[in-house]
Amino acid sequence: MDFRLDHRRYALSFRRTIRTARGAWDVREGLYVRLERPDGTVGFGEASPVPGFGSESLAEAEQQCQALAGPVAAGKLAAIPGRLGSLRGALAAAMASPGPAPARSLAVAALLPAGRAALEEAPGRAEAGFRVFKWKVGVGAADDEMAMLDDLLAALPSGSKLRLDANGAWHRRAAEQWLARASERPVEFVEQPVPADGKGARDLLLGLAGDYPVPIGLDESVVDQGDVGRWLDDGWPGYYIIKPSLLGDAAATVARLAAADARVVFSSALETVVGAQAALRLAFAWTGRPSALGFGVWPLFADSRFDGPTAMPFLHSDELHRADPASLWNAVS
Ligand code: MG
Repeated sequence: MDFRLDHRRYALSFRRTIRTARGAWDVREGLYVRLERPDGTVGFGEASPVPGFGSESLAEAEQQCQALAGPVAAGKLAAIPGRLGSLRGALAAAMASPGPAPARSLAVAALLPAGRAALEEAPGRAEAGFRVFKWKVGVGAADDEMAMLDDLLAALPSGSKLRLDANGAWHRRAAEQWLARASERPVEFVEQPVPADGKGARDLLLGLAGDYPVPIGLDESVVDQGDVGRWLDDGWPGYYIIKPSLLGDAAATVARLAAADARVVFSSALETVVGAQAALRLAFAWTGRPSALGFGVWPLFADSRFDGPTAMPFLHSDELHRADPASLWNAVS
């Protein structure tokens, strides 16, 4: 009894250029898988590796799909190497027949643009009801951005929380200055202050986490399930920013985090709604300490059919099921 695997590649323009510490990003590329199951039902999944984020490249994921195209045994699908995390996640989603997610609402963090543009956008998001905000830092000069921090905090309603995401852009000295400053302000956590790779990166992060009261979030440092396990073994005291779409066996990883009572933020990999449905399903099933979702990204694509629900301060699990993966599969043909 074999499955039957097909895949289709997509290239979708973002509505506006995404700017991070790693540069500008205009077109999201990824692929959809369609899996016909032995019982004749069909499931879909999305493999959308993030360039420069450590998992497989899109070309590797596509080669693997080409190698397995047509009838394929379940054992072969399960034997795909762990480093192809994005594709493994796509296939796991396509193989499963999940029931509805638990009915609940979760808070969503509003994503603010880098630099001074955040000051212009924040009041509108606050007006819309958001109380958790995320600001990309490490894009401009550290001094300029630090000078903006208090202006931005002043523009947010009282009781708001601000997340800072440096995408690993700072050296130790800049990270220390920011962590000291953030410790005296309503900053929920500082995400990836220093690079994930390089000699001593792990000890530096653990040292910084011990030296400053503001929590640190790991993002680029936890790109696969092995990374999560190693940080759990080290007793990481801060947040885990988890992109389930990139994790491979995301359900097992999330179960380990839950068992450790870890602080987890479920986060978008800027995937389309097909991948986001699978990722958010895990978020809605999470019973640990709640944190606002890192899914305040939509509308994201020039072609809005590929978006999830427009970012609102709360996301209800019912909204997950609105998009139909089969129609999006057809749309990328
Ligand atoms: Mg991040």
